[in-house]
Amino acid sequence: MTLSAFIEEVLKYNPKADTALLKKAYVLAEKAHHGQTRSTGEDYFIHPIGVATILMKMYADSATLCAALLHDIVEDTSVSIEQVKQLFGEEVALLVEGVTKIEKIHFKDSEDYKAENIRKILIATAKDVRVILIKLADRMDNMQTLKTFRPEKQQRIAKETLEIYAPVAHKLGMWRLKGELEDLSLRYLEPEVYKFLRSKVAEKRTERENSTEEMIATIKQSLAEKHIDAIVYGRAKYFYSIYKKMKKKKIGFNDIYDLVAIRIITKTMPECYAALGIVHDLWKPMPHRFKDYIAVPKANGYQSLHTTIVTNKGKIVEIQIRTEEMHHISEDGIAAHWKYHGTERDKKFDRKISWLKQILEWKRQSKDASDFIESLKVDLFEDEIVVFTPKGDPISLPTNATPVDFAYMVHTNIGNKCSKALVNNKITPLDHNLESGDIVEIVVNKNAEPSRQWLKFVKTSKARTKIKNTLKIEHDHDPKAERLKQDAFIDTLSSASAVYNMIEVIGKNLPLKISKCCDIKFNDKIKGFITKDNKITVHKEGCINIHAMDQKREAALLWKVDNEKDVVAIRLLLEDKVGVLAKILSIFAANQVNIKSVNTKQRKDKVITTIRFYLKEKEKLNSIVAKVKQIKSVIEAVIQKNT
Ligand code: MN
Repeated sequence: MTLSAFIEEVLKYNPKADTALLKKAYVLAEKAHHGQTRSTGEDYFIHPIGVATILMKMYADSATLCAALLHDIVEDTSVSIEQVKQLFGEEVALLVEGVTKIEKIHFKDSEDYKAENIRKILIATAKDVRVILIKLADRMDNMQTLKTFRPEKQQRIAKETLEIYAPVAHKLGMWRLKGELEDLSLRYLEPEVYKFLRSKVAEKRTERENSTEEMIATIKQSLAEKHIDAIVYGRAKYFYSIYKKMKKKKIGFNDIYDLVAIRIITKTMPECYAALGIVHDLWKPMPHRFKDYIAVPKANGYQSLHTTIVTNKGKIVEIQIRTEEMHHISEDGIAAHWKYHGTERDKKFDRKISWLKQILEWKRQSKDASDFIESLKVDLFEDEIVVFTPKGDPISLPTNATPVDFAYMVHTNIGNKCSKALVNNKITPLDHNLESGDIVEIVVNKNAEPSRQWLKFVKTSKARTKIKNTLKIEHDHDPKAERLKQDAFIDTLSSASAVYNMIEVIGKNLPLKISKCCDIKFNDKIKGFITKDNKITVHKEGCINIHAMDQKREAALLWKVDNEKDVVAIRLLLEDKVGVLAKILSIFAANQVNIKSVNTKQRKDKVITTIRFYLKEKEKLNSIVAKVKQIKSVIEAVIQKNT
């Protein structure tokens, strides 16, 4: 699709689309992927265009379409996520980054894990559901070119699609995408069955859908004449769902009547029966096919009228009639699929998902793209997060869980030997609050042991129990222990990690490794070298160990402070005394430093305060910190890079 055709298509459904941004994304993606080809031999750029096209059919907003065009750019070309952020802004960059992250999720391959995997992928991306939508469209487009791969690879991808992505689409109420993903999977997993069904279903799907459209129009007109306000829509059955029905009911293809189904959603229950009368007036009902699940609901509470009619052209169609309320109950009855069916946690989860489905459902009907955008940027899973190991294994944790919780969740020994944490490749304090989608790596040290201080910030009972067991702590309130904890805290605060957060690696996305020989302070002259395990070890310029490094593997390093709008953060451990903060802030004022934000957290009788401020003149920083440290109630002050 040419650029102008692409823009024209978008404007058709969204006249307010950001065409300048879309054009920029189109041009960059085309340029960046130039020379790359797909397995089919076609230009690679066809793929991002294909993904964007699938999303256009869902009336996707401009940011989503930009991200779709750019979704493979960070992984497969020399363009970095920072460049995407610079050129397209935070929103698009976050979407691209989110899709790149899902790419790396390593799914556990067992029946038991299926539901868990699906749940985790949803939670990890739930902050912005558009990430999942792009990923599903990506998978859809890739499934369409699967034919060029080796059979083993085809089967592996098809299986993953059928077991993970199709159910995700299902949970989100994206029926069409789900059906198409399943049909494409079936084609590779059961080629004979697929061929059989395809030849049997003589009519092509689009034709089926067209004839359904005609029926829908007829029903709508008749309902309107009787003043019944109802939603009518068609569901063409997919090959996979026919196959499933044949398998489940142990019946042959010719015994499947309902290749197309139509739904009528009314406002009231009497209208259901009125609509049924209208349908039976229009077409001949098949005997023994009428079921009244309204008068006699199914065991799971499902309520609906089912009837099967024969059209004048001899077509057999199933029609389901129910009220809006019944419809929502039936649609949300997905709890049975979940592994922990019936537990409080999962009931909550299902409620959230059903709420999300309602948004998507509403969006499908309303066609109002701009409203759709806002409603999807919601954090639905406020009490649970999912983060990933560097290999992409998803780990569930409670909100505000820390790297220490993560370490213990992975393995007790990793928790006990945890010395440092890298979150999204950046060295991060151990009490840092993790967020969904973070990639967490724990640096273990055989000499490391749990700190009493960890008990103050861990959120999981597993971590708490293991730490206590290892430290053999019987009682929590030992004043001596409290003092010990205090000391440990200062250790954590003044550890090298904070200063390492301020080092930026230019042009490479590799984690930093703290060197044991150099005590690096902010603004020191530093040099970095890429180690064999693909990390960057940082030394002071004069360090003797530099000579042992491979000079060809030097990495360019920069102190970050004057980037990102000159925001610096200072983290303080304070005694909880009146007026301390005012004294500190007056030091900033005296230096004419503008403060961006002040956050405080109470930790028993101490307070942790983080002050973020704008600072252009770097040389001022050390003197400000020195002055702050002179205040009596300031126990510790450490400079941090604002993230
Ligand atoms: Mn892709």
